[in-house]
Amino acid sequence: MSRGLKGLEEKVFQKDLCIACGACLSLCPYLRTWRGRVVKLHDCGLEEGRCFAYCPRTEVDQGALQRKAHGKGYNDVGIGPVRKILMARARDPIWRKKAQSGGVVSALIDYALKKKAIDAAILTLRDTDLLPKGRMVRNREDIFNCAGSNYISGPTLEALHKGPWQGEERIGAVGLPCQALALAKMRTAPVEKKGSIDKVNLVIGLFCTWSLEYEKLMVFLKKRLGEGCIEKMDITPPPERLFKIKMADGLHSLPVDEIRPFIRNGCRACFDMTAEFSDISVGTVEGIEGWSTVILRSDTGENLFIKAEGEGMIESQPLPEDHLNHLKEASLLKKGRGLDFLREKGLMDS
Ligand SMILES: Cc1cc2nc3c(=O)[nH]c(=O)nc-3n(C[C@H](O)[C@H](O)[C@H](O)COP(=O)(O)OP(=O)(O)OC[C@H]3O[C@@H](n4cnc5c(N)ncnc54)[C@H](O)[C@@H]3O)c2cc1C
Repeated sequence: MSRGLKGLEEKVFQKDLCIACGACLSLCPYLRTWRGRVVKLHDCGLEEGRCFAYCPRTEVDQGALQRKAHGKGYNDVGIGPVRKILMARARDPIWRKKAQSGGVVSALIDYALKKKAIDAAILTLRDTDLLPKGRMVRNREDIFNCAGSNYISGPTLEALHKGPWQGEERIGAVGLPCQALALAKMRTAPVEKKGSIDKVNLVIGLFCTWSLEYEKLMVFLKKRLGEGCIEKMDITPPPERLFKIKMADGLHSLPVDEIRPFIRNGCRACFDMTAEFSDISVGTVEGIEGWSTVILRSDTGENLFIKAEGEGMIESQPLPEDHLNHLKEASLLKKGRGLDFLREKGLMDS
């Protein structure tokens, strides 16, 4: 079986499992992104390639990857390796105003840049028409522009391969669980010419139940809400479960069931809700407005968070036990759904 572009095409593209994370882009001339999708321009004769090795939807022993990163005795309670779980928010209101939940992600990237723990970071910028793109940021203003969630997935990781880097040696990355997994695969892949992955020294992962596909969603939204520019979007927790969209003419709310048909098929094959391959994972705290759930997973993540809190950038509180139990349950449910999907589609070996 090919472990190059041919294999990627058979195992991922033809089975509609690609989530357009960007891990395979800007590595060769044959793959490009177009309107939120990855498209193949030409065949490639290589039997092995980075595109296949880095893809989060090609086979991988996730347990072995975690053991490599954290050593044998890591503590996995159904949500990946955990040092500490808490809820937190940025102290500076500038982050909380634009951010999705507590502004923790933006505040931590800002702090890491200021303290030179990283020299640049890869975030996701929403284009004017909602198409997400990887963006290399080096200052507060750029972090601010990227704050907030775009529930459409896009090729954020392409920015890592594309550069151009300006001599940066330490790079932070913020991404979805699939993107954090792709970064872990890049780090351990037995391929030559690894690119900039050795410079990535901080990964902040976002919780994710699923993401949406750009083209189909845009057609639907334009029909439903008109052509106006979308300023912010949010998905509220059950029992409300609404897709809320802020536009110039006001706030629109749609039942989440109306957008379910636009969930990326590749998200159905995902086992990871809490971005288990990150140094720090961040999600919303359901029912407690303006706070983020934070999982500290590694030395790097824990040290950065403790320092940022010590210097007043962030404040934290214990996460209430019922929230923690709910998080574990939601994470296990996603794993179960992923397995069911792979079994149903006869994809258990891919
Ligand atoms: C597709 C998607 C699904 C999500 N699903 C859940 C969920 O089920 N449960 C839950 O608790 N939380 C979910 N989140 C995470 C949540 O929306 C917040 O991102 C998280 O709580 C961090 O909030 P914050 O205020 O600290 O982040 P902010 O300070 O607002 O920073 C958010 C960062 O997210 C990055 N980002 C935005 N959109 C994308 C994207 N499409 N791809 C990659 N990076 C992006 C930006 O670079 C930005 O730096 C999801 C996020 C996304 C993008």
